[in-house]
This record gives sequence, C-alpha cells and structure tokens, in this order.
Amino acid sequence: MTASGSSLPATFRGEVIEPGHSAYDEARRVWNARYDRRPALIVRPAGVDDVVSAIRFGRERDLEIAIRSGGHSASGHSTCEGGIVLDLSLMRGVTVDPERRIARANGGALLGELDIAAQAHGLVCPVGVIGHTGVAGLTLGGGIGRLQRHFGLTIDNLRAVELVTADGRRVRASETEEPELFWGIRGAGANFGLVTALEFGLHEFGPLLHRGVAIYPATRIHEVWGRFRHAVDHAPATVSFILGIGRAEPAADYPPEVAGEPIAILAYNHSGDAASVERDIAVLGLADGAVAVSSSSQPYLEVQTANDLALGWGRRSSIKGGQANDLRSATLDAAVEVAARAPGAASFSITAQGGAIAVHADDAMAFTGRAAAIDVSADSDWDDAADDERNLGWVREAMAVVERDLIVGRYINENDDDTQADVRASYGEAKLQRLRALKRAWDPDNIFRLNHNIAP
Ligand SMILES: Cc1cc2nc3c(=O)[nH]c(=O)nc-3n(C[C@H](O)[C@H](O)[C@H](O)COP(=O)(O)OP(=O)(O)OC[C@H]3O[C@@H](n4cnc5c(N)ncnc54)[C@H](O)[C@@H]3O)c2cc1C
Repeated sequence: MTASGSSLPATFRGEVIEPGHSAYDEARRVWNARYDRRPALIVRPAGVDDVVSAIRFGRERDLEIAIRSGGHSASGHSTCEGGIVLDLSLMRGVTVDPERRIARANGGALLGELDIAAQAHGLVCPVGVIGHTGVAGLTLGGGIGRLQRHFGLTIDNLRAVELVTADGRRVRASETEEPELFWGIRGAGANFGLVTALEFGLHEFGPLLHRGVAIYPATRIHEVWGRFRHAVDHAPATVSFILGIGRAEPAADYPPEVAGEPIAILAYNHSGDAASVERDIAVLGLADGAVAVSSSSQPYLEVQTANDLALGWGRRSSIKGGQANDLRSATLDAAVEVAARAPGAASFSITAQGGAIAVHADDAMAFTGRAAAIDVSADSDWDDAADDERNLGWVREAMAVVERDLIVGRYINENDDDTQADVRASYGEAKLQRLRALKRAWDPDNIFRLNHNIAP
C-alpha cells in the first residue's frame, strides 16, 4: 500500500514530509550521522489526536513505526528505512507548578526546556548532561546525569506518563493508575506506546553547581581507582562523580607532562551548599598525584548547556556500557592499554552510582542495575564514515576489556547493541519475562519495535 501522507485524515493538523519535499533531507536526519535512513514518510503530530491518527495510519499500511523525541538514540531507533517516523518536534514544551513542585513535559520536549522551566522556580529534575537530548527517550530508559546521587535517576522522579497505545487508546500510568505498566515504562518505556506527556517531581536546587576536575597520568590509575571506589560508598549523596580513562589528545589543552599519554580524569559535581563542598569531596583526595586540578561554581543552566555545541548533531558515534561493582586490577591495566590506542577523544566513563540511585530496590522498576556501584561505558565520536571501523572496533575492544567485571544490567540508553541477547543482559531473565507479559498486554503485535525490543 502507498505510504502517501495524503491519506492521513483531514483532521490531521501537523506536518507531513515525504521524499521529494524540500524539507525531507533535513527532516530525516537524526543526531547520530551513522543512521542515514530514508523513511517513506515523516509526520509531525501537532497534538495527541494527531498521534492517534498517525499510529492508526502506520498500522493500517503495515509501515514500520519509528518514534522520535530528541533523536539521540544510540541505536538509530528514531528513524527507519521505508517506514513512518512520528517526529514529536511540534510537541515540545514544559510547564511547572511550583506549588506542587511538579513539571509536565510534552512528549517532544528537550532536556534544556525542562531545566530552564524548573530553574525559573529554583527547582530541578535530575536529567542528562546535554540540553538537546529528548526528555522522553532519556527518561523511558532511565536517565543519568550530574545530580543523580543526590536526587535519583530521572525515572525515580517520574510521577506519571500519558501515552497512546498501539490500538489508539489514551492511557495514564502512575503508581496508582496502571501500576504494572508504569513499572515497565521506567526502564523499558519505548515498548508500550507513544508517550505524549511526562510528569516529574522536582527538588529545590540551584542556581549554582559546584564542580571540580583533576587529571592524572594513567600510571596512577590504581590509587585513583582505590579512592574512587571507596568514595562510591562513603561520599555524601550531594557529590556525583565520574572517572574517565582516555588519552590526552595532543590537540587539546592538557598539561605537557601527559600530552599524548593515557590519562585518568576524575570530575565531581556537588549539588549542596557551597560551605560543605570541601568537606564533602575530601574523600575523593582530588589533588593526590594530579598534574592539574581545578574547581568552580557555575550556574547549573550554564553547565547543562556547556557541551551542547561540542556534542551537536551530525557526528558519528558509538557507545556501549554496563554495570559493575568493582573493576579488577587487571581490568584497569587493560583499560589503560586500550585507552593509549584510543582514536580521537574516545574514552571510558565510569560513573559512581550509590547515593539516591541505590535507594530503590532493583526490582522496583524495569531499569536494572541500580544496586551496582558503578556504570561503566566506552564511547567514541567521529566525523568521517571512512573511520567507522576504527572507532567501532575501539569501542568493542574497550567493552570487551571490562566485560568480565559486569553484572546483570545494561543501561539501554548507553548501548548501541540491541539484539535479544543484549536485551536479556539489560534486564535479566526474571524481569524480561515480566516485561514480555506486559508487552503482550499492551502491544501484542509489536507495533513499537524500534527500541531495545521486548519481543512479545
Ligand atoms: C549527545 C548525547 C548525550 C547524552 N547524554 C546522556 C546523559 O547525560 N544521560 C543519559 O542518561 N543519557 C544520555 N544520552 C543517551 C540518551 O538518554 C538516549 O540516547 C536517549 O534515547 C535519547 O532520547 P531522545 O528522545 O533524544 O532520542 P530518540 O532517538 O528520539 O528516542 C530514543 C528512543 O526512545 C523512544 N522514544 C522517544 N520518544 C518517545 C516517546 N515520546 N514515546 C515513546 N517512545 C519514545 C524512541 O522510539 C527510541 O527508541 C545521551 C545521548 C547523546 C547522543
């Protein structure tokens, strides 16, 4: 059957872009240039009624349906070849009720909108670190950023979602409305419907975020790791911190003694009072063995958008990750050895969990791995397709190094692998079975399958 948008109902208020349209090539782009696909149709619903029509339209014509919020999917899930893309970019916007401390984000809203709307009232929802990421895509997978040890994962702050299901129903899910669906949405949320709105609880915070960073030659990796791992259990929850292992690119502004060499970078964000920063971060021993240390206090909104251009649309990218409780000595040595051969700025990122992340039981939501001490990922960004194999190969090799230390749980938003084996590793067998039952209840025909797919 034809995919022509001309057969969408006359009541459809949004935009329809087909091949040949002057906006088609721009409209089919997603953040990651590796996914250069040609959908038969891109529709931009103007509201929930349009979403219902577009899903029905796609189903009736047996078109593969891709849903796009911020377009940042690591696996290219928000575009497709020959199918229909439901692009939510006309459904942006965030409103805040400061009395109830609740934010309501539309299904196409970006993180920057949520940050700005909440900070206008001295409030915050913990999200990710780049302003142009989609609120929906990030939240439905979990949501990790600069404040999570203090305020929890983004899903821990999710109060309710509204969605359109595969059969066109409008459903609200929360702890008290369709609670089993709400359980699954928090970690496997792209599987059950198109989310048109998300409501979050907010925290008092800001406007300043206190930050610091130290750079070490990788020869010091064992002592730095020892302090980092100890701090996961002993640092106050106001301190979120991350350890990078990479190579000091000669082109970048690193101290001369480490230029071109493998390095470790320890960075913290302190989301409490300025007066308590020094005491709270002491456990990190930041200056010990460092070749450079710096610290500052900056407006949170400034920090949240500081890398938006550097990580802008149009580059090629690969990321893989998992969770672990510790990294063995041999793993650290191997990681440094791989980092020494990193193309460009490719690196490992080891994020401290614990704090508010660890407050909920692991089976409280579909998201899996919150009880682990760390999240560890490897990623690379590059520009030229000719460098694909070098970069993809490095990320694969880097992940193979830490693989033996991983436990059950992979954060799907930081994993471009999406086979059924990867999905099983992401949730573990027991949760996968529970998710499959949920999928059979809400999307038995697997209409929403461009995601880390729970096969019904
Ligand atoms: C530059 C960059 C920075 C990032 N930083 C962080 C970070 O700090 N923390 C973090 O946790 N993650 C981060 N991520 C990962 C990010 O969370 C995922 O890529 C996430 O999927 C992006 O969501 P999106 O809406 O932008 O993507 P999209 O590609 O639009 O969507 C991703 C997935 O969610 C589904 N989806 C999107 N919207 C909806 C909806 N309304 N209803 C149902 N399903 C929907 C899509 O079908 C797709 O499967 C980052 C990614 C990039 C590229």
